[in-house]
Amino acid sequence: MAEIRLDKLLSNAAGLSRSDAKRKLSSGAVTVDGETVKSGSRKADPGVQRVLLDGRPLLYREHLYLLMNKPLGVVSSTDDPRSPTVLGLVPAPLFRRGLFPAGRLDKYSTGMLILTDDGDFAHRLVAPRKHLPKVYEVTLDAPVLTPALVGEFAKGVYLGGGERSSPALLEPLSALRARVTIYEGIYHQVRRMFDQNGAKVTALRRVRIGGLALDPSLPEGGCRELTDGELRALF
Ligand code: URA
Repeated sequence: MAEIRLDKLLSNAAGLSRSDAKRKLSSGAVTVDGETVKSGSRKADPGVQRVLLDGRPLLYREHLYLLMNKPLGVVSSTDDPRSPTVLGLVPAPLFRRGLFPAGRLDKYSTGMLILTDDGDFAHRLVAPRKHLPKVYEVTLDAPVLTPALVGEFAKGVYLGGGERSSPALLEPLSALRARVTIYEGIYHQVRRMFDQNGAKVTALRRVRIGGLALDPSLPEGGCRELTDGELRALF
C-alpha cells in the first residue's frame, strides 16, 4: 500500500479521533521504524515500515467488518435522540467514522448484526434480489405453530398494509418456540408474520445471515471483527 499520514493511520487503525491522535502523537506514543514521530502530517507506509502505537503495530485496513451480538433496547442506527445505538457498543479500538449497521434489527430484537464502513458490501448483504437467508429464533405468546401455519409460511404470508412476504421456512421447536427463515427484510417482517396469524412475538433473535451463524461465544453486547473466512461464508 502507499504512504498515509500518521494522523489518518491512527484514526483508521486505532479508531482515534483527530484530537486523541494528536495527543498520542505529541506524547511520543508513535514510532516509525524505531524513531518517535510527533507530527500527524508525517507519512509512513505501514505495509513496509513498522509503525507502532504504544508498542503495538498499526495495520491499515481499507474497510472494517464487525460482528455484533445485539442486546435488547439498543437501536440499529448511527444516532438516535432517545435510545442508545449499536454504534455506542463498538469498543474504541474497533470504532471508526463511517461505520453503520448493514441491515437492521428492531430495538427489542437481539442477535446477529453486521456493521461495516463498506457501502458495496452492505448493499450485497441487504439487497432483496440476493435473497440471502436470515434465520430467527422466535418465542410466541400463543400456540399457533400448527402444520397448517408451516404451510402458510411456505406459500408466503400476508403482512398487513398490502404487503406479502416471499415463501419462508417455519420450523416449530416447541409449543411456543420456532425457527423462521426469511429471504428479504421487510419492516418488522417476522413480528408481522405472526401478528397476522394470531400470535405476538415475545422474543426475537437473529442467529444466522447467509452461510454464517452467530458466534455462540460472543456475549450479548459483544462485538468483534469478522475473520476473512467468516466474510466469505456470508455470501
Ligand atoms: N423481523 C422483525 O420483526 N424484526 C427484526 O428485527 C427482524 C426481522
